Amino acid sequence: MSSLPPSIQNLVDHFTALPGIGPKTAEKLVFFLLRTPAKDLHDFGAALASLADNVTLCVQCQNFTDTARCSICSNPRRDQGTICVVADPLDLIALEETHNFRGVYHVLGHNINPLEGITPNDIRIKELIARIQRREPPIKEIILGLDANNEGETTSMYLARLLKAYPLTVTRIGKGLPQGSDMEYADSVTLSNALLGRREI
Ligand SMILES: [Zn+2]
Repeated sequence: MSSLPPSIQNLVDHFTALPGIGPKTAEKLVFFLLRTPAKDLHDFGAALASLADNVTLCVQCQNFTDTARCSICSNPRRDQGTICVVADPLDLIALEETHNFRGVYHVLGHNINPLEGITPNDIRIKELIARIQRREPPIKEIILGLDANNEGETTSMYLARLLKAYPLTVTRIGKGLPQGSDMEYADSVTLSNALLGRREI
């Protein structure tokens, strides 16, 4: 039985459910918040509620956005005919930080992962194919920007096979990415080099 009042224990439980946060850290965070001015707490709560109320998926690239089309897809200076496919929004952020990619993205949401029961039907592949088939604008190149690990490899191979049916170039970044690595943890220089050194598959 917890010695904490229910209001505090409730928030500790919410923090503990977050990745990388154990009960001790959760308690520390909650006791820090208890010393925070009430207005800041209300703002914090409103920011959380806004995630649920305002954030949606971009109709084009499936990235998180609070408008129908995200700022990248609606930027007229981006090359809409070159799509970099990533598994996770954090990979997109890592690639944007290189300032070396002028195309647009497609966020699958996850890699294919048979061990976790994640099949091609569970990720946003059909949305990618629909985008290619719409030909508005025609897609010239699909860059597979997937992790250099087993799941990224499986997903890349699956997509490469599937995309053979369409008149476009399929390239893959990853040369230079350390084997087994997650894109989101690669530094900007490594990612830039991997992007510039992409190879057709
Ligand atoms: Zn978008």
